[in-house]
Amino acid sequence: LPEQEAFDIEYWLLEEAKLQRLPKPRSLAGHVALVTGGAGGIGKATAARLLREGACVVLADIDETALAAAHDELGAAFGKDFVRPVKLDVTKEDAVIAGFVETSVEFGGLDILVSNAGLASSAPIEETTLALWNKNMDILSTGYFLVSREAFRLFRAQKIGGNVVFVASKNGLAASPNAAAYCTAKAAEIHLARCLALEGAEAQIRVNVVNPDAVLRGSKIWAGEWLEQRASTYKTDKDGLEEMYRQRSMLKRSVFPEDIAEAIYFLASDMSAKSTGNIINVDAGNAQSFTR
Ligand code: NAD
Repeated sequence: LPEQEAFDIEYWLLEEAKLQRLPKPRSLAGHVALVTGGAGGIGKATAARLLREGACVVLADIDETALAAAHDELGAAFGKDFVRPVKLDVTKEDAVIAGFVETSVEFGGLDILVSNAGLASSAPIEETTLALWNKNMDILSTGYFLVSREAFRLFRAQKIGGNVVFVASKNGLAASPNAAAYCTAKAAEIHLARCLALEGAEAQIRVNVVNPDAVLRGSKIWAGEWLEQRASTYKTDKDGLEEMYRQRSMLKRSVFPEDIAEAIYFLASDMSAKSTGNIINVDAGNAQSFTR
């Protein structure tokens, strides 16, 4: 492992050890959270973070095998009563409605939605098929709309406010080469969050965004086609890409699923009670945002 990576891993182990020694504050005890893409890298780390704070978590994901594995893992760590798997496709209206009804019946309501289910796709614009364009829009933009609408319906009925966190991407703010469909869909997510923050404010429904930069570890996105396409765009391999992202960050550190989960936890908790319509970029300070 490169030196910095070893430092990062050690840092998280020390943080974990420190937390084990402290009395657990469990700031989300009694809260119910639904995490879409909960069987994936960022989703599972987020579910674990919220569970550690005492929340009950519904893992909503289309991938049945990964869902069962995540449920077993988190159930063993935090107790089966606190985690529920719900197989759903965020692009299917009926399935989304049914998933939210199931959540509210099983756990007696909903306090937090983490809309995170997603993918990444890369193709030059001339080679972007309508099917690929629509897939990005369906999962990322329409999917985020459908789950937010159901969360809003529940929050309004409960009359105790609510909390929505979108996992968008730095690519929703800055263009990335050969990824117009993905970048445009992520930009739509960010603007949807702003619109919903405005709509929900009177009812104390907060809506915020976390923008990860590249998270290579633990993410299924970085195990498939996206990895091949990025590797070919930047003419390097996975290790080379990891190093490239690390080097272009001001802090010279990689971003892990746990880093994203920490920002989501902040936005989902009362620590950020006065924040809505805001974005947290978790990118170790991407120098490209500051220099030309
Ligand atoms: P991941 O592939 O590990 O997890 C994504 C999860 O979403 C998977 O479990 C997948 O089954 C699920 N999913 C996909 N389509 C779905 C659908 N239609 N309905 C329900 N579930 C569906 O990827 P990740 O890195 O954890 O990504 C999580 C989010 O973070 C995505 O929205 C992604 O675009 C965003 N993001 C990731 C990175 C990165 O580098 N990993 C960077 C920026 C943004």
